[in-house]
Amino acid sequence: MTGIEEVRKILRDLGIEEVLLRQDAQLRAHLGLDSVDLTQIQLDLAERFNTRVDLWTEHDLTVRQLADAIGDRQPVAGAGGEYRDRGWWRPEFLDDTVLNARAHASHRVAVVDAERTFTRAELDAAVSGCAARLVRTGIRPGDTVLVQLPNQARIILLALALIRLGARPALALPALREHELEAVIAALAPTALAVPARHQRFDHLRLAEKLRERHPSVRTLLVSGAGDRAIGHVDIDRLIEAGETAPAHRDRHPSDTALFLLSSGTTGAPKAIARTHEALGHVIRCAAAVSGLTPESVFLAVLPVTHGFALASPGVLGTLACGGKVVLSDPNDAAAAMALIERERVTHCALTPALARQWLLTRTASSGPDLSSLQVLQVGGARLDESTAARLSRSFGCRIQQVYGMSEGLLNFTRLDDPPEVAFTTQGRPSSPGDEILVVDGEGRPVAGGEVGELLVRGPGVITEYHGGAAAASFTPDGFYRTGDLVRRHESGNLVVAGRVKDVINRGGEKIPADELEALVLAHPGVRAAAAVAMPHRVLGEAVCLYVVGGNEGAPSLPELRRYLEDSGLARFKLPERLVEVPALPLTAVGKTDKVRLRQDIVTRLDTKG
Ligand code: AMP
Repeated sequence: MTGIEEVRKILRDLGIEEVLLRQDAQLRAHLGLDSVDLTQIQLDLAERFNTRVDLWTEHDLTVRQLADAIGDRQPVAGAGGEYRDRGWWRPEFLDDTVLNARAHASHRVAVVDAERTFTRAELDAAVSGCAARLVRTGIRPGDTVLVQLPNQARIILLALALIRLGARPALALPALREHELEAVIAALAPTALAVPARHQRFDHLRLAEKLRERHPSVRTLLVSGAGDRAIGHVDIDRLIEAGETAPAHRDRHPSDTALFLLSSGTTGAPKAIARTHEALGHVIRCAAAVSGLTPESVFLAVLPVTHGFALASPGVLGTLACGGKVVLSDPNDAAAAMALIERERVTHCALTPALARQWLLTRTASSGPDLSSLQVLQVGGARLDESTAARLSRSFGCRIQQVYGMSEGLLNFTRLDDPPEVAFTTQGRPSSPGDEILVVDGEGRPVAGGEVGELLVRGPGVITEYHGGAAAASFTPDGFYRTGDLVRRHESGNLVVAGRVKDVINRGGEKIPADELEALVLAHPGVRAAAAVAMPHRVLGEAVCLYVVGGNEGAPSLPELRRYLEDSGLARFKLPERLVEVPALPLTAVGKTDKVRLRQDIVTRLDTKG
């Protein structure tokens, strides 16, 4: 429910008629509420949203103003109280949890990237300085800033500074393009975009300019690399210098949104996931504990830190919160990453199975760097097969920890003391003691032990709705998130991922909702029908195979269609790897595209090199 609907509900419960509940209706002047009603509203808001609104000294608020006071706080009724009582949600802010200045020695190195090193004291000063300068660029508490930056120290600094001043960074993968960003900007109405001028041959600044023209909410462009100050670009590197200090925003509350992650999407474009200070703090603490992080830990971030896995599972934020050191690197250079492991004495690293397979190839090709510091290699984002797990363990001489998680908040880990047969063949169990897990059949009934069913989850780290109430069907009425993943329980108690209910292709950990791709393909004039399915891929695990029915002139070729999709602004990792033209798509008995048959068909074609 959005803030305005919550307010309307509270007012309806007080007996106010629906027709009177206009956004500009004033509580006293128009709705005739008395002092008892106002007290009731204040109590309701305190209980449901943990927010204090003073209706005595404020002038007569309108319905809209009252909704604004709630902002996008998540309702905390019921479970929230219990989560606090049990210490799962703590009255802390994410930037304080992460910087934890009092607990850790200020001279120790906290963040290292290719250009710079920050000690904890320098990090704290730079975050504070950045928060002060952000205010002068016009960014205010409550604003949202879309942050699409690669793995460099500046993204950590900028995100923490925004959080400190009460603004909300919305973290977007550098690989997202116009098609995805357009939807995210429309949903979040950010006041600023933070982008690299160019990254991996893509002109992010040009796209940001285009998006700013189209979206009046976007006033400011924060740019790393060669921006143009004359036309109002703000240089991120100047923001993150130490110097001035900004106090944290005074009216923040731990149940406020600290940051937004983007769902990798089961349908359509990415959805915004609001993570509150207290829920994300809980996720990080639990993940850090099961990953064995200590102040001596060194985490190498090679996966994009704008994704939950490298950011907070426990990732960058968890490592910093424990007093450890974070090293940031480019995902595409396995040899450079291994050199960094040796140089920085890295103890923990998170990889997708696809990246892990590339690392194995690089490792055997060059007997190379000393990797003896490595203690834990976390692998997740897509299913890891047993033989790759065993090879990784042998080749890297460290523990393999499977991580099965999602930006919506559930994180499962194999435990560091699980025997190898469990660590190599299961995807772990929840890190939070508060997570309630259900494995259900198509009717929502729990399946028998060991049977496959859809995984539902509710818990202190798991969201109960998407921002703005999008995709409400992803949640049950009693607040469980429907993961869309098919799992079964292993005899060890861990979960094994058996497949998916949702129609998503998992390309090396990057998710591609089939319906989004199909809708764009269908817009091509030469395509009459289209179906995207996963085909097996040696390194990526899965890749996109597109079945199309061509128009009168025949279907476009694969290169032509890829160009067309790229020109439509689709992220490049979503482009199909293979195209099969068919006279008609096979249908199921109820007339839906029979994707099971198509998946079998592509496997047969690959086997026979068809
Ligand atoms: P994201 O929100 O991008 O983190 O994607 C979450 C989805 O990735 C999950 O719902 C699963 O479908 C998939 N996933 C994540 N980790 C694993 C894993 N270890 N094994 C299999 N699938 C996974």
